[in-house]
Formats: sequence, C-alpha cells, structure tokens
Amino acid sequence: MERARTDHYLDGRWVAAAEPAGITVHNPATEEVLATVPAGTAAEVDRAVAAARAAFDGWAATAPAERAAHLDRLHAALSARADEIARTVARELGTPLKVATRVQAGLPLTVLHSYVELAARPPAPETVGNSTVTREPVGVVGAITPWNYPLHQVVAKLAPALAAGCTVVLKPSELTPLVSYLLFDAVHEAGLPPGVVNLVTGTGPVVGEALAAHPEVDLVSFTGSTATGRRIAHLAADRIARVALELGGKSANVVLDDADLATAVKVGVGNAFLNSGQTCTAWTRMLVHRSRYDEALALATKAAEGYRLGDPFDPATRLGPLVSAAQRDRVRGHIDRGLADGGRLVAGGPEVPVPDRGWFVAPTVIGDVDPDSALAQEEVFGPVLAVIPVEDDDHAVAVANNSRYGLAGAVWSADEDRALRVARRMRTGAVDINGAPFNPLAPFGGYKQSGIGRELGRYGLDEYLQTKAIQR
Ligand code: NAD
Repeated sequence: MERARTDHYLDGRWVAAAEPAGITVHNPATEEVLATVPAGTAAEVDRAVAAARAAFDGWAATAPAERAAHLDRLHAALSARADEIARTVARELGTPLKVATRVQAGLPLTVLHSYVELAARPPAPETVGNSTVTREPVGVVGAITPWNYPLHQVVAKLAPALAAGCTVVLKPSELTPLVSYLLFDAVHEAGLPPGVVNLVTGTGPVVGEALAAHPEVDLVSFTGSTATGRRIAHLAADRIARVALELGGKSANVVLDDADLATAVKVGVGNAFLNSGQTCTAWTRMLVHRSRYDEALALATKAAEGYRLGDPFDPATRLGPLVSAAQRDRVRGHIDRGLADGGRLVAGGPEVPVPDRGWFVAPTVIGDVDPDSALAQEEVFGPVLAVIPVEDDDHAVAVANNSRYGLAGAVWSADEDRALRVARRMRTGAVDINGAPFNPLAPFGGYKQSGIGRELGRYGLDEYLQTKAIQR
C-alpha cells in the first residue's frame, strides 16, 4: 500500500480529517488496495469554503505579476514531481506509464505553465463611451473533478481560477484522489497564501453536494458525467450561482472518401482507445464513406488487434485496465447491447481473453452500427469503437450531429477546404482536421449536453472573471 493520506488541506495547512480512512483507493490493474484517503464531511467543506472566502479579498487584490510568480513557483514544485505524478496515475487509474508521463503528467504542466503567462497579463480595462469596463474575479470556486485525467482536470480549473484572482476548494474524484495530494504537496511547498486553495477529499453525494450547494461558493466548476452535471446545475440554480460544466461526449471521426485512410484509421483508433477509451473527447464513432468502408473496417481491426493489454508499468503495454469493476461491467454491457442491436463484431468483444486480474476489456471494434442505436448514442467510456457507413458529406454531417452531445470531432480529407466545410457544420466545441496537434491554448468545451463554458487558454480565464462597468 502507498502511504495513507489522512488529512485535508485547509487554510494553508494539512488538517487531520474527521474520517481519515473513509475511502479506499484500488489499483485497477491488480485489484489490490493501494491507499486510503479521508471521506470528507459537510463540516469540513464549510471550513474549506470559509478559508477560501477569507482569503479571497487579499488574493483578488494581489498584483497580477505576483499571482503569476506564485503560479510559477507552483509549476516548479509540480515539475519536480512529474515522475511521481506519472507513476501515481499509472497506479490509481491504470494508464500505461508512457502515456501517463506524456499526458497525465505532461499536459497539466503545460497548462499550468500557460497560466503563468496569462496571469501576468490580465485583460486590460476597456473604454466604451463613458464607461470603463473591467474584469474582476468571480469569487470562491468549488471545483469538482473526475478520475479519467485526474491531475489535468484539476489544473484546468485551479490554474485559471488562481490566475483570475479567485480562491478554490477542490473535491477530486474518490477513485483517483492520490495525485491531488501530490498537487497539494506542491501547493504547500510553493507557499501559496493560506486559504487560496483547499482540498477536501470524499464522495460526490457528501462532499460534492455540500460544495455545489454551499451558499458561499460563487462558481461551481465541474467536469464529469452529464447526469451529475445536471444535478450540480440544479443545486447551483437555487442561489443563482454560476456553473461551468465539462460533460460527456460521443465524438464523430468523419473519414471522407479522399482521406489518407491508413493514417485516418490508425490515428482514429488510437484516439478512441487513449486511456482505455476513458476520454471525454474520444472519437468513439468512426463515420466512413461507403466506398472506403470495408477497407477502413479492415484497417481498424488490424489496428485494434495490435493493442497489447496488461500491466501499466510494462513498456510493451499499450492499453491498461478500466478504472473500476463497475466501469468494466458497464463497458461490457455496452458491447453486448451493441451486438444485440445489430452491430457486427470485427475486433475484440466478450470472447477475447484478457488478464485474469485487473479490470480489463479487450479493445473492441463494432461495425455496421445503427446511428440511432444505444452504442452510437451513449457514452461508453471504454475501448470500444463504433464504425458507421455514410453515403456522402451531407449524410456524414447529419450522422455526426445525431447526438445529444457536442464535445469534439475530427474530419479527414485530402482536400482541406472540403474538410473545413464539414468541420464548420459539425455542432461541437472542437474539430480536428487531418490529425492536427492538440493546442493547449484553444478553447475546450461542449455544445449541447456536453457542457457550458470553456476551459484552457484565455477562454478558460474568462470563466473565472465577471464584468463591471463604471460610468463617469
Ligand atoms: P461523475 O459525474 O460520476 O463524477 C465526477 C465528480 O463528481 C466526482 O468527483 C464525483 O465524486 C462527483 N459527484 C458525483 N455525484 C455528485 C453529486 N451528486 N454532487 C456533486 N458531486 C458529485 O463522473 P466520473 O464517472 O468521475 O467521470 C466520467 C464522466 O466524466 C464521463 O461521462 C466523461 O465524459 C466525463 N468527463 C468529461 C470531461 C469534459 O471535459 N467534458 C472530461 C473528463 C470526463
């Protein structure tokens, strides 16, 4: 077992929790107990929010350059822990170490660094007629985060909130809380003023609800499932608090008939299976022009069969387990339902052997998926790709938009203008053309039931600012 953590981080120090070992964290690759952390209480949320409220005026009045210097020190303290972060996420979530190093540790460091710059240069006041329009921090932020990118999703809230001058209470996922302890070790080492950031671990129904419903929380910033997002929006509505919601997705990867098929399918399968498919932006529906459909299915099958399942610490492993037994069972249910609804199994599926220990699901590709069926509509959050034939570009757009979600997507074509025309018609917060690289400064967020608001870059900063007009 790792070192048990028994404290919350409140008002600038580690404080013994009322229920110090209330939550058990497992290693999903071995099913063994990894550690225990506190199950926070509503009273502990009260203390954390009171500390954040007391710290707010001072932090909001801190000069931007000084806030940037604090974020820079936090970045240095977190960078020094990069290896430990990658290993911790590999253990508590099961991400293969190589991916954990690049994505689970690397991405949040990149994002945090971007906010060092953005904190130093806040939006300048504007003159509009006889008004001076300024931006001010929203106040106390309650941040509630999921398990699939457990540090990135925290940093994507904490960094812009701090850059804007807000103070924060964080409740990380109870499935992957350990990496947040490393972050708060870094917070402590960096010497952030007491109360500016606070950590209360615990369950959604107890700590999450207490935070979302707290009268002193001005903004609830949530990443997680659409069902929980809806609940949080209801709780916040009672006091007209702001919400920022990053929710689920069912993103379409549109492969047009003139695409470089080998690359489109290989990258598309890799995207769908990243982090064992536990990625909100995963391109889980591959839409292929009928003329190239059989070819694409064959390539997808070959790609999927090349994924080796196993120990996240084995360098040969390309796919780790799912986060929990419950998640594994849900994903299996989605596969069974997809096949019962007429999908054609072309790779993986229930018969393919997986390691005895650990919550694994074989990488699975299902063809001929009906765009209205559950497999094409529901978020699976596992290594399952649905392939759907389409007749032409209009049909591709219609199928891509046949979703209550609208988070991300992709288009592949040899003709970039044609790809752009399709991308513009897709009702999603982001579209990647021909495997374009990830941009950590681009706005990230959803249309439709994928959410409200944007994270990352200056768009992420905007979420934590409110607008004031002073007339003279
Ligand atoms: P979840 O909604 O179950 O939990 C997310 C967080 O909310 C956890 O910290 C949990 O403890 C807390 N929570 C649960 N019930 C709560 C309640 N009643 N009140 C307050 N807080 C509560 O989601 P999850 O299973 O952790 O994460 C998977 C989901 O997150 C997927 O649906 C995925 O698409 C989504 N997700 C979205 C994004 C995005 O940016 N759009 C990113 C990652 C994950």
